[in-house]
Amino acid sequence: MVIRLALAGNPNCGKTTLFNNLTGTTQHTGNWPGVTVEKKEGKLKGNKEVIVTDLPGIYSLSPYSPEEVVARDYLIKDKPEVIINVVDATNLDRNLYLTTQLIETGIPVVVALNMIDVVEKNGDQINVEKLSSLLGCEVVKISALKKIGMDNLITTAVNTAKTKKKFLIKQIFSDKLEKIIADVSTIIAKQTEEHQTRWYAVKLLEKDEQATASLLLTAQQKAEIEKIVTNLETEFDDDGESIITNERYNYISTVVKDTSKKNKKSGLSTSDKIDRVVTNRWLALPIFAGVMVLVYYISISTIGGWMTDWVNDILFGEMLIPGAESWLTSVGAADWLNSFIVNGVISGVGAVLGFLPQMIVLFILLAILEDCGYMARIAFIMDRIFRKFGLSGKSFIPIMIGTGCGVPGIMASRTIEQESDRKITAMTTTFIPCSAKIPIIALIAGALFGGSVWIAVSAYFIGVIAIIMSGIILKKMERFSGTPAPFVVELPPYHLPGLKTVALSTSDRAKAFIKKAGTVIFVACALIWFLSSYSWSLQPVGIEDSILESISSAICGIFTPLGWGDWQATVATITGFIAKENVLGTFGTLFGLSEVSDGGEELWGFVAASFTQLSAYSFLIFNLLCAPCFAAIGAMRRELGNKGCLFAVGYQMVFAYAVALCVYQFGMFFTGHGFTAYTMLAVIALVGIIYFLVRPDKRLKSRKVEALRT
Ligand code: GDP
Ligand code: MG
Repeated sequence: MVIRLALAGNPNCGKTTLFNNLTGTTQHTGNWPGVTVEKKEGKLKGNKEVIVTDLPGIYSLSPYSPEEVVARDYLIKDKPEVIINVVDATNLDRNLYLTTQLIETGIPVVVALNMIDVVEKNGDQINVEKLSSLLGCEVVKISALKKIGMDNLITTAVNTAKTKKKFLIKQIFSDKLEKIIADVSTIIAKQTEEHQTRWYAVKLLEKDEQATASLLLTAQQKAEIEKIVTNLETEFDDDGESIITNERYNYISTVVKDTSKKNKKSGLSTSDKIDRVVTNRWLALPIFAGVMVLVYYISISTIGGWMTDWVNDILFGEMLIPGAESWLTSVGAADWLNSFIVNGVISGVGAVLGFLPQMIVLFILLAILEDCGYMARIAFIMDRIFRKFGLSGKSFIPIMIGTGCGVPGIMASRTIEQESDRKITAMTTTFIPCSAKIPIIALIAGALFGGSVWIAVSAYFIGVIAIIMSGIILKKMERFSGTPAPFVVELPPYHLPGLKTVALSTSDRAKAFIKKAGTVIFVACALIWFLSSYSWSLQPVGIEDSILESISSAICGIFTPLGWGDWQATVATITGFIAKENVLGTFGTLFGLSEVSDGGEELWGFVAASFTQLSAYSFLIFNLLCAPCFAAIGAMRRELGNKGCLFAVGYQMVFAYAVALCVYQFGMFFTGHGFTAYTMLAVIALVGIIYFLVRPDKRLKSRKVEALRT
């Protein structure tokens, strides 16, 4: 007989650590909620008959987040033999909330009291026998990290599965509520399996649409239940879901009081002491800014930057490219093949891979912040600000990762519970300059603004403003409406980052980036190389006579109102869709340079000659805000679907155009170039933006905010 054990628990309670122990795999763990979004399966070490499933971390079985839906669909539809409920024993209050719901599913539950090592170290006490009898299920003490209690857990779980003993689900609510649940149970008894009746009855009282829909109730049943719900809500003067939640919490607090004793002496933990400073109202932001400056200083200005320079200048510039060129010549390869391999593939893919070292350093630092627990604090701190614009503090994490590369940034948006926030974050993350956009910023700053750092600062500032503005604009659109979910961010205790965790998280993100270079970029480079090396009659030509040139010349008029409507700038923008740093390489090719360094110093003279300060800045803004590279568009498609992705790209293009237009045209107007038809166009764009920003929002705005402390 195959036994399926499902690991369920709150985010960060140690499920993945336990899963890795049980199955011998190395899944990515992290001290940050939401690392596991999909469920993972593995066979128990030493017993192939037992299959273990790691479910995503969840706080409850309500249908608010994708994690909750994945977990609950698995439990209700696939019905594993046993649920191992991993509970963070240092935080019973919060963890038992899910436990009571898991028990309600009617599937036998074994509670694994994890982190027992920490409990014991703190000198706290938990009465396992009493807890077990109050909850009505087996309870086992374990430490996934220290590998304590593993055998006992497995034996208990397997025995529970084998005995299939009929579980009596405890009545945990007040008599009044229990009576109502019993009434609803009677009505739906025929449609449900006996052990799931209570689960569905509770869900009906909570007005959970998904559960209701799956029951296929008759109109009469629906009417009866609706009457019961209405009565309940009038009697308790609250909505169904809140009534159940409150009673659940009441029950849990009595259970916790009866079964656990905190060591009074322990007082304020070190974590709490650190948090007093780090999440302090006044110090939080300056500390955060300091941390970020340090992160970028290490990853971009110093160590990461040096490594990237080495890869670009030495590895590719002096070794691979000349090496490949001379080798191809020596074996007598055709000119076109030589050009294809050297100029198309190696330079193109190399331009992208050149950023890898810098990005790896950044990802390592972000993984350290994540694993030690600081990232969760950042979400908490930023929520105070983002909340005002209708976004969640958790949107900030993808944006931060997006400063390295938009692809993992967009992927990180998955950890956001609320669907609309998640989609908006996936759409706006790439407004923040990723590391591939830095060379463009450096070029414009160097060529036209005397290398002023303010150009870079303004680029990040514009990115943040664009995200906030888009948050406000998009939130009001029909397609992003949805029930607001409570903002719950967990503040796990700080601990030293683990080497393995950091390495795994870094390699996951780096892989996403390398994959983009190996696939999308490879193809796109080949295509652009072809378009820029051949004429319509398929003769090999310079870029100035190429197909790409004629396409760009045909469409460059669109950009005239932005101040840079020539074909060169248009070609550069188009090649930017392969990878943003291509903008520089393209300018290099166009101005006939053989090699362009990171800051593009060789280009400064040419660029200064073909742009004014204003048109260069407008070019920069457009390239920063317009649709990201193909790889990031691919990532958006995964998160948003085809239609959503199309909408996102369209939105980004229009938004980038409108902002660049306003900047250029108002800039021209205020520097005394008169009021033209284009100025009028800019006025219209500005009015449009303002309209979308201030139009009334008809949707419900209330949102509960809660910070949970572990
Ligand atoms: P998940 O989110 O539930 O999958 O949790 P993870 O397995 O990623 O673990 C979250 C954090 O808790 C990691 O930093 C683990 O090292 C740590 N952790 C897990 N189990 C234990 C344990 O038994 N004791 C201690 N002290 N830490 C643990
Ligand atoms: Mg996990």
